[in-house]
Amino acid sequence: MRIEMNRVYAYLVVLLLFTGVIGCEQKVSSSSQSSDGGELDTEIEAKIDKIMANMSQEEKIGQMCQVTLDVLMKRDSNDNIIEPNVLDPERVKKALVEHKVGSILNVGYHTFDREKWYEIIEYLQQVATEETDSKIPLIYGIDAIHGVTYTVDGTLFPQEIGLAGTWNKQCAEDLGAVTAYETRASGISWNFSPVLDLGRQPLWSRFFETLGEDVYLTKKMGENIVHGYQGDDPSSKTKVVSCLKHFVGYSNPASGRDRTPALIPERYMEEYYLPPFKDAVDAGALTVMVNSGEVNGIPGHSNYHLLTEVLKERWGFKGFAVSDWEDMIMLNTVAQIEPNYKEAIANAVNAGVDMSMVPYSPFYEKYCKLLLELVAEKKVSQARIDDAVRRILRVKIVSGLFDEVIYPAEDYQDFGSDQFQEKAYQAASESITLLKNEKNILPLSKGSKVLVTGPTAHSLNCLNGAWTHTWQGVDPKFNTKGKKTILESLQSTFGLENVSYAVGVEMSIEEGWETNQFKDIDKTIQEAQTVDYVVVCLGEMPGTERPGDIRSLNLAKEQQELVKRLSNVGKPIILVLVEGHPRIIREIESLSSAIIQAYLPGNEGGRAIADVVSGKVNPSGKLPYTYPRYDGVIEHYDHKFSEDKGGKSSEPNAYNPQWDFGFGMSYSTFSYTNLSISKDTIEVGGSDQLTISVNIRNTSRVQGKEVVQLYIKDDYASISPCGRRLRGFDKIDLKAGEGKTVSFKVTAKDLRFVGRDNEWINEEGSFTIMIENLQAKFYLKCEND
Ligand code: BGC
Repeated sequence: MRIEMNRVYAYLVVLLLFTGVIGCEQKVSSSSQSSDGGELDTEIEAKIDKIMANMSQEEKIGQMCQVTLDVLMKRDSNDNIIEPNVLDPERVKKALVEHKVGSILNVGYHTFDREKWYEIIEYLQQVATEETDSKIPLIYGIDAIHGVTYTVDGTLFPQEIGLAGTWNKQCAEDLGAVTAYETRASGISWNFSPVLDLGRQPLWSRFFETLGEDVYLTKKMGENIVHGYQGDDPSSKTKVVSCLKHFVGYSNPASGRDRTPALIPERYMEEYYLPPFKDAVDAGALTVMVNSGEVNGIPGHSNYHLLTEVLKERWGFKGFAVSDWEDMIMLNTVAQIEPNYKEAIANAVNAGVDMSMVPYSPFYEKYCKLLLELVAEKKVSQARIDDAVRRILRVKIVSGLFDEVIYPAEDYQDFGSDQFQEKAYQAASESITLLKNEKNILPLSKGSKVLVTGPTAHSLNCLNGAWTHTWQGVDPKFNTKGKKTILESLQSTFGLENVSYAVGVEMSIEEGWETNQFKDIDKTIQEAQTVDYVVVCLGEMPGTERPGDIRSLNLAKEQQELVKRLSNVGKPIILVLVEGHPRIIREIESLSSAIIQAYLPGNEGGRAIADVVSGKVNPSGKLPYTYPRYDGVIEHYDHKFSEDKGGKSSEPNAYNPQWDFGFGMSYSTFSYTNLSISKDTIEVGGSDQLTISVNIRNTSRVQGKEVVQLYIKDDYASISPCGRRLRGFDKIDLKAGEGKTVSFKVTAKDLRFVGRDNEWINEEGSFTIMIENLQAKFYLKCEND
């Protein structure tokens, strides 16, 4: 497949050279958004032919079936899985030998050590490759979404929302590479990551799993994560197969609740939601997981257009599409588009889903039986089955499973190493986003006396969020030993004698919802009187999917009340937000002297936050989303001029977020000068491009990193244009007083949009470039004018 991917690239270059020539308003045929995936590797295809020639129909269907590990575990007489978990040879045989299941996923509510993982995977692979007729290895998938989350002592990075806050592609690559290494070091070769859903609905429980609201930022960070996972050769012992989630439109439920319907007009699907997936497919991503919700009334798992026509045919995706959890069943029980399980299976497989994450018994046995019947009844064609199996085998071959089903455990000496943890620390510290710093109150000087308070001050679970050691991430039992909370890190940095603690407000989950209660509130207020500063750590309980649903974006009122009461003491307040959604904090913003957005920074987050507070780290994160000021006003930075109307004034001044997308302060100051463009007109077609340059200087005495952000506005367009769109960014490091020139290249292709006919087009006209407070104009000329 490495060879295949190289061919894809070669093919793409040719394609780009020849499709560049387009005219004003001229439709860019779908080829401009397509890559036909290049030719297939004949050697690999011949190998697949050979395997498939000897496969029975049952074996083919088994390859299309995935069960969860719990299905294979020993149970007691009450059908509860026994502790500690052990595989039940009978159940394993039933799934792998009798039903010929080709894929296993997950782990239920546990984190295993590497030894246990090896014991499990080695045994399962041994049964698959020695005791079955086909001898095809299993592909094991897991949610290692911010590090190898289910292996003891794995390295845990920030969740994707924080990773996006770094605006540093290297951090994305590092997350991918370290996670791939440690996932393989756990015997697993398939990672259900990255999430490329756009974070444009902040109420959504999985907002923190996204790379934020912007298409360009998501594309760039996403591509780098995928490259970190797969490298140039996914069969290498340090690489894994990536899985793009959740194809597509899942992240925008109108109700805000997980797995509820989204309405996404075709134009926006094409221009916003699809491109991150498209670029990741072009970058070689080998699998996708399907959207569990529905878009415009069509469930993701039933969407032939998106799965087959767009992903596989238009884009030439050669890997496979796995369903999400129980989603074939849910076409019947939840979406109610089919009257029974059997019809639901036919619908999903015919739409283009290649593997079903069934994942429980007896549904998996039924799935195998029903799919067999469906083929016999010609309700699912043999060609569709063969295509799905071919795709799955292709990924199994490309990921090296046929060569080395599991690499030796001792080959992974760097697992959990200092070097890896340093990369996680680097990502956490680059993600931290300074939102307010009145009178440069931060950094605090050594010897400052500090009260640390708030529900997230002393919790590793809050720093890591969901998908950490367990699905919801709330069980402290599995937390990594020796990792420090914010409180412990501040104590190490400022000295035990200088840091006191009182929780103020405690958080827990009661009957499924986050609950906040005052605790030791009088003590907290008294303590505040004895210190120089109060660090208030606020935020949320970990949570994802339906259990993570929230009913309001407002920060818990008890947490806000804590800040209000503390503000009466008169000591400067430093807010630290440990949150996966931008919670509304309007009322306490003005009571705080400094505000630090930490997102969900992972195991190294405590250390990174303390280092920002002390000044060891100069903050350089920037918001990957627009931080709303009001619960009921959700807008995005790329809103239109026409959206800016409202309120009492007729002026366009309604856009008034708490903080803008791309915002983040530093202990340094930077000046932007000399915005220049290489020409004032560029032409559509050929290789014409515009070079945009700007000088940035660190005008302070402190070394600092700055994210240079290029925005472009289409001044007038036949689809009312956005106020601006991010078209480039570069994170640079500047020593005190140092200056640098940063350049960006822009081509006509970057200036296209999806027009009235839902096709990508270029339109002649003027454009405005914006970098910081500088602006310039250029003109896009269409060739045939
Ligand atoms: C989630 C996926 C996840 C899968 C396997 C589903 O419920 O939506 O993101 O990869 O479970 O754990």
